[in-house]
Amino acid sequence: MKQKRLTKPTKQRLLSIVIPIYNEAETIPILYEQLTQVCERLPLAYEIIFVNDGSQDHSLTLLKELSNNDNRIRIIDLARNFGHQVAISAGIDHTAGDVVVLMDGDLQDPPEMISTFIKRWNEGFEVVYAVRKKRKESLLKRIAYLVFYRILRKISSVEIPLDSGDFSLMDRRVVNTLRAMPERNRFIRGIRSWVGFHQCGVEYERNKRYAGEVKYTFSKLLRLATDGIFAFSYLPLRVATYLGLTVAATSFLLAVFYLIEKIFSNIDTKGWASTIIIILFLGGVQLLTIGIMGEYVGRIYDEVKQRPLYVVNEKIGWMKK
Ligand code: UDP
Ligand code: MG
Repeated sequence: MKQKRLTKPTKQRLLSIVIPIYNEAETIPILYEQLTQVCERLPLAYEIIFVNDGSQDHSLTLLKELSNNDNRIRIIDLARNFGHQVAISAGIDHTAGDVVVLMDGDLQDPPEMISTFIKRWNEGFEVVYAVRKKRKESLLKRIAYLVFYRILRKISSVEIPLDSGDFSLMDRRVVNTLRAMPERNRFIRGIRSWVGFHQCGVEYERNKRYAGEVKYTFSKLLRLATDGIFAFSYLPLRVATYLGLTVAATSFLLAVFYLIEKIFSNIDTKGWASTIIIILFLGGVQLLTIGIMGEYVGRIYDEVKQRPLYVVNEKIGWMKK
């Protein structure tokens, strides 16, 4: 007769690592090697979910090879390039882990940090994000980042930590909350802060990218920055109001000034230069405010269209049910 087991074996907890990949063929082998080394030492089971964001090089072939030899590797092949934030979202949607780590595929985020993340998670933090101590990037980019994060912090309605990107750990509860958020504008570091729970930052030194070009072009970076600002602040809309008030007040004062001048002196009203300047100035202010409103309206349009966030071409590495 079979004996009943009295104690159930405790189920090992699962860590899911999400990595977006856009033309990272040079880095993938070494990334895989370093990452598995770190993960083997962790007291958890793990899966690595690579999201191929429409790479044009042989990244996908390399990933498929890895997944053939390692059943902890999974791949989501997106139908085209959807961008970094959307690729991460696609990855998050397919995680099964009790805890999820997001990291870049260019080794700028050192895999060793994952064990520190897990330690803090075990201490009870639901979100652990990495904070850059030093950036090994061009001066111009460093200044741009510095200014952007400080502006965002000043004007945003949510407390978004300074100098922290997407490299982070999130508990299942946080991941579920993120997934339940219907918004199309995925500024992950912003919505991650918005969620709340217990969050903590850990400092790290951000490496140079291991190989290849930066995949964030200037326009993509600008788009990310404006997404961050318009999704987390109403200040730009208020700027329109303030501008309107300032212009109205100035014109009122000017009117009074010219009236008095007219009464007490017989200087004729000055030439047309001032008129032209005022017309141009007002035209500029009006266009600017329409533009600001447009930024919001465009985003509302994106939301109401309710298009899916991404399209999956193929999923590889999941067990067939
Ligand atoms: N990436 C992506 N889709 C894109 C651009 C980038 O999946 O359209 C990935 C890229 O492969 C890398 C990560 O996002 O793993 C960060 O990109 P990158 O290193 O170029 O940006 P930065 O480090 O400057 O933030
Ligand atoms: Mg990078």
